[in-house]
Amino acid sequence: MKFYIDDLPIIFPYDRIYPEQYAYMCDLKRTLDATFFPTKRKLIYCSRTVPEIEKALSELKRLMEYRISSAESAEQKAKDQSFMGLGLTSRKNLCIHPEVSKEKKGKVVDARCRDLTNSAVCNKYREDPGSVEVCQFHEVLGEREPGNLIPPGIWTLADVLEYGRENGTCPYFTVRRMMPFVDVVIYSFHYLLDPKVAEQVSKEMSKDSIVVFDEAHNIDNVCIESLSIDLSRPMLDSAARSVNKLADKIDEIKTTDASKLQDEYTKLVEGLQEASTAEDSFVSNPVLSEDLLQEAIPGNIRKAEHFVAFLKRFVEYLKTRMRVLHVVAETPLSFLQHLKDITYIERRPLRFCAERLQSLVKTLQLSRIDEYSALQKRTHCLISRRSRLGFLLILEPFETDNATVPNPMFHLTCLDPAIAIKPVFERFSSVVITSGTISPLDMYPKMLQFTPVVQESYPMTLTRNAFLPLIITRGSDQVAVSSRFEVRNDPAVVRNFGTILVEYSKIVPDGVVAFFPSYLYMESIVAAWNDMGILNEVWKHKLIFVETPDANETSIALENYRRACDNGRGAVLLSVARGKVSEGIDFDHNYGRAVIMFGVPYQYTESRILKARLEYLRDAYRIRESEFLGFDAIRNAAH
Ligand code: SF4
Repeated sequence: MKFYIDDLPIIFPYDRIYPEQYAYMCDLKRTLDATFFPTKRKLIYCSRTVPEIEKALSELKRLMEYRISSAESAEQKAKDQSFMGLGLTSRKNLCIHPEVSKEKKGKVVDARCRDLTNSAVCNKYREDPGSVEVCQFHEVLGEREPGNLIPPGIWTLADVLEYGRENGTCPYFTVRRMMPFVDVVIYSFHYLLDPKVAEQVSKEMSKDSIVVFDEAHNIDNVCIESLSIDLSRPMLDSAARSVNKLADKIDEIKTTDASKLQDEYTKLVEGLQEASTAEDSFVSNPVLSEDLLQEAIPGNIRKAEHFVAFLKRFVEYLKTRMRVLHVVAETPLSFLQHLKDITYIERRPLRFCAERLQSLVKTLQLSRIDEYSALQKRTHCLISRRSRLGFLLILEPFETDNATVPNPMFHLTCLDPAIAIKPVFERFSSVVITSGTISPLDMYPKMLQFTPVVQESYPMTLTRNAFLPLIITRGSDQVAVSSRFEVRNDPAVVRNFGTILVEYSKIVPDGVVAFFPSYLYMESIVAAWNDMGILNEVWKHKLIFVETPDANETSIALENYRRACDNGRGAVLLSVARGKVSEGIDFDHNYGRAVIMFGVPYQYTESRILKARLEYLRDAYRIRESEFLGFDAIRNAAH
């Protein structure tokens, strides 16, 4: 189908269009027209999960096939055929190396891949083939013409993998290196929002690109997560071990090849520019602006052994802080002051810590960087300390309020989502934030600090009335039901919740998904239902599957749940709002004929981090606690 919005021709790959789709397109055009760009613009489309990325790529592929088949001129056809779209995800999903790809953890895949592909190893291999092991899939890419590593067209992740296998080229690096040349890039939020990753992946994206955040109802949480870090005691222990290993390595290299350290020293005096550009970088430090990169590294961490001593002192300091047995909440400024008073560690060398470590790792040519991950985390934590406002350090010595054995956790938390997204708004001129469930709409501009050009919500057209929302406030015995903390474990409420589930499983065909506000609550209720015989009653009609915090267990449960829905046996899936199941998995058609939500999924309001965040939102943006909590619960329920 072809139609026009103003004078812009739209080619739409379906025979019919919903009114809301048309309205959306018109508004989108208005948004993009707000600033005039004479050039062709790249589209950066961000989604949350790998299946969603794959889905968006398949849709795009379909659209381009349609465009090519219905092109009105040879010129138009050639233009559409040269259009290129790629999706980027982690090495874990795109590696085809026979051994590395078998690793289960993403971090290990990353580290092993870096060992095989870092510039030092590759150079050595080129000088003396056979002396070191490299990844051939990566090596061959170097021989190809940049910008021509894969033919034009739209490639789903599965397509890229297949192409890589057939041609003996690494799919991951193919996509990474092709990014400056493609018309559409689809990847996850983190590649733009997480400064540690964004610096490496998205730095090259041109400023006139159009950025779309799809499924963006949780974007504030992604922003916050990307700038927050939790440190536990075992992590610090492991960081201390890594520092010791580093020290040993330095001693070793001093006896074998002292000139290397000297060279590094000279380079560091000149500046950091070179150290921060490599594709294989191990940590990146978004704190350092271009002019800082030109600066010399502070004198007291320039020498490798001084730097290691500096790290040791810092880890020891954090360990000492963790011995405290009461909760501490302090601002970064007071933390830095205390740090300075006790250890004489100043702010400036801390800022350069990540880059300095990166340079050292390169100089020492360390392998299996995953073993140094604790150290890496720790240097990252320095990053979050950069800003005086919007960050808080919370030390919780005990896991729960009633625990007696200390299990300290240092939360370096970001309270202000606007900090992570600010660089995106500053850099790109068109940013579209879209989701099926953002309400109220004006919460985002307030929370993320931007002024929208167009802000619209659209009703949904249904061909038939297929939704029946029901709010149940009383059970069949007229007892009021609620998941309020005081009454949620009352046997009458629990029994009534159970009866609702039994009644639904009797009359609803195929799959029923039930959501609880938290794992803890779900566990207690399921145990109580078992004692009351409610589960036996449900079993007569449907199989029961339960989501657990373990991702593997949950995916097996999900697979079997689908099987039971497909073969007509029918099943109930008990899951948690904000858990794995509620994020990014579609319960369409027979997989979700009914959804039951036991209670409103409010966040755990006793959490110190949440309290701090609420306080910040109130003070900085005048968003009331109840306003945010309600917004957050509703977006989770609606999703
Ligand atoms: S270069 Fe590619 S194929 Fe080789 S190990 Fe790394 S991700 Fe895997």
